[in-house]
Amino acid sequence: MFNCNNLSLLNFTYYFKLALAISMTIVPVIVLELIAIKVIRYKNKYKGFNTDFIVRQIKTIFYTIVLFFLAYSLHMVITTPSNTCSMYAKKDIIEEYKSNLNKINDSDMNEVTKVKYMENVLLNAYNKDTKEESKVIEVKATINKVDDFLKENSDKTLNTVYVKDGVFYYKGHIDGNYNTYYGTSCPSDPLKEGYNNKFGYNNYFYNRLTKFIDEASKNGYKITMSEQGCRSYQTQVNYYSTMTPGRAAPPGWSLHGLGIASDLEFYNSNDSPCPSGRTDKSCPSMGWAHQNASRFGLTFPLLNASYREDWHIEPINKQKY
Ligand SMILES: [Zn+2]
Repeated sequence: MFNCNNLSLLNFTYYFKLALAISMTIVPVIVLELIAIKVIRYKNKYKGFNTDFIVRQIKTIFYTIVLFFLAYSLHMVITTPSNTCSMYAKKDIIEEYKSNLNKINDSDMNEVTKVKYMENVLLNAYNKDTKEESKVIEVKATINKVDDFLKENSDKTLNTVYVKDGVFYYKGHIDGNYNTYYGTSCPSDPLKEGYNNKFGYNNYFYNRLTKFIDEASKNGYKITMSEQGCRSYQTQVNYYSTMTPGRAAPPGWSLHGLGIASDLEFYNSNDSPCPSGRTDKSCPSMGWAHQNASRFGLTFPLLNASYREDWHIEPINKQKY
């Protein structure tokens, strides 16, 4: 029902629910007290009751009960996790948060990626329902800090891709409009055009990839990235026309054309590339990669695709603009 990544909506839900809970408890008590006072005064004044007076009081009580149940139902709807992102955090969230924080501190991820990654951990945690109010407050405080940090960080555009708050924003392409196709503005001399690598990978994607591959190496696994950092439109046309249908993206559609996708090579311990038909188990370097990519803000989106590509890696957080 709601977008769980929308922090202001989450905050609004939180306070709205709080307001409902308070009014549900306080309003009926006040109304009943007022009625009791009225009844006592009436009795003292007239030494008895007439029917009209009693009917009026019963009506007020009835409406109060109806309102109470309306508020109660609304409260239930909002707190149902399937309907919204519940603002109740789970008891073990903070522990989960801390252990994740240690993990990413080890990993040398860039600051924005780190913070964005933690934000995702926290938001996912929010989706698990529980009633630990103190934890909620702690998590909310952390999210606010994260938010402030993200606001201060934005980066410049390369090949229509810009990175802001750890998210890779890229232009949507229009079918049939060549000018909007990916791969049509690959750099011809990346190092002279503001890139930090000679392949034409987006700088931030390249940083993530390098850190990821270095970390693999520290763990004894050999992985290499493709030297084709930005795949030109023409190259994609060639792939598309020569490969099995469905294997390569249609020309203009591949994120390789924006420098934010890479095809990795995984190696066995004897330095030979893992052959096709490999699994995470038979090719441990690949197993490690699939297991650890998210720590570096990376993902393998085609592991479950009809044409499985266990080598194709992209940034986790991407959005079209
Ligand atoms: Zn690929």
